[in-house]
Amino acid sequence: MTKRTWVLKDVLELYALPFLDLIFQAQTVYRQHFPAGTMQLSTLLNIKDGGCPEDCHYCPQAARYHTGVKAKKLLSKEVVSQQAHTARELGATRFCMGAAWRELKDRDLPAIVDLIKEVRSLGMESCMTLGMLTDEQAQALKEAGLDYYNHNVDSSPEYYKEIITTRTYDERLQTLQCVQDAGIKVCSGGIIGMGETLEDRAGMLVTLANLAQPPESVPINRLVPVPGTPLENTETIDPFDFVRTIAVARIMFPTARVRLSAGRTTMSDELQALCFMAGANSIFYGEKLLMTGNPEMVKDRALLQRLGISVDQLVNQPQA
Ligand code: SF4
Repeated sequence: MTKRTWVLKDVLELYALPFLDLIFQAQTVYRQHFPAGTMQLSTLLNIKDGGCPEDCHYCPQAARYHTGVKAKKLLSKEVVSQQAHTARELGATRFCMGAAWRELKDRDLPAIVDLIKEVRSLGMESCMTLGMLTDEQAQALKEAGLDYYNHNVDSSPEYYKEIITTRTYDERLQTLQCVQDAGIKVCSGGIIGMGETLEDRAGMLVTLANLAQPPESVPINRLVPVPGTPLENTETIDPFDFVRTIAVARIMFPTARVRLSAGRTTMSDELQALCFMAGANSIFYGEKLLMTGNPEMVKDRALLQRLGISVDQLVNQPQA
């Protein structure tokens, strides 16, 4: 099948559909590509907190904002291993590790390679978010067994400049290219509710969908305005507008994991259920999602059970 090229107009037409028609279409697409009522659970661990030199206006880890986040060193392999074991026992099949770095430094590469190998040895999929990468670094991560690399484009090319000034949209796209060239799957999405227009939301999805190889995982975050960041007083968006973006993402990325990511703590059970109906089939599951709270695991499990949604099992076998 030839790959579809998306244009902004078509995406805006999806956004303009009556809400129930859009949800119906998204759920139909979902059922063509995934078993109905299933969810993939990922756990995210911050392996290096705070002190980031970038200026992403939403981020409490940026050193320049006064958010109370202290810069710490990279976590040891022992700590990460213990956390990954716990995540696996609690049902997570993917373990994501995030470091608040502008880019990966070659001096940190050996430690990162060790962490990837450790997580893979548990039979879990591994994902890293470490900032910008070079071709050589991406290749080394691939050789270590990395399954996914997360690098969000955040918003449209136009609105991105309002949110981040310390690196360009093109640099983000270059890193995605390095990752794909190395044969690592891409996890890339954005944040909704930063003051962007509908065209910006559509533009972000068009950018990602028109990559030579669209992302295999698309996280859709709802902004959590953190005190001390430039976006602290941003108004919360209409929940239905958020659900619309999930549904449009599902239609545009039919085979990808569409992940309900940061901001889930601020959503009611009913709103989360609507997001699942709209085609979200992956959630972050754990005590903390980067620096924002994440609903407790027990509550998550109870919600999935109430909705009759089953969770995915490990695809890789743990090494003996
Ligand atoms: S989002 Fe990432 S790159 Fe931007 S300030 Fe936060 S940790 Fe740094």
